[in-house]
Amino acid sequence: MGCDLCGKEGPVLAALIEGSRLNVCSGCGKHGKILARPTFSQKKTSAPAKIETAETIVSDSAERIRKAREKSGTTQAEFALKINEKESVIQKLENGSLTPSIPLARKLEKLLRITLVEIEKEEAAEKPSTKAGPLTIGDLIKIKK
Ligand SMILES: [Zn+2]
Repeated sequence: MGCDLCGKEGPVLAALIEGSRLNVCSGCGKHGKILARPTFSQKKTSAPAKIETAETIVSDSAERIRKAREKSGTTQAEFALKINEKESVIQKLENGSLTPSIPLARKLEKLLRITLVEIEKEEAAEKPSTKAGPLTIGDLIKIKK
């Protein structure tokens, strides 16, 4: 392993230099076209603990939409125009035969100032701590003995 051009030991990159593909050090790579960055496979990036979140539409979205829309004094047709949807979509949303998609719900939320999307957090299954409490110095001494 080492640079094909100067012989320098160390990480190399694949580079296209004067028409040939060579493994060169970063210094020599500047003279050509870098094809690939060296891969550091040994370095594993530990992904942060993921908390799965699921966005769901509230179960009574139809009622919320209808009430808020009526309160705003707009008809279904006017409201449909406002949010750039067909009137039939509004009808379905309000009679519960259609559940809005998350983006549509977000739009409705903004316009009607209501809540339609709920975030459900599925927390990573955390094992309940079996520790009785923090160890005191006294406990540590007992353990040592
Ligand atoms: Zn080199």
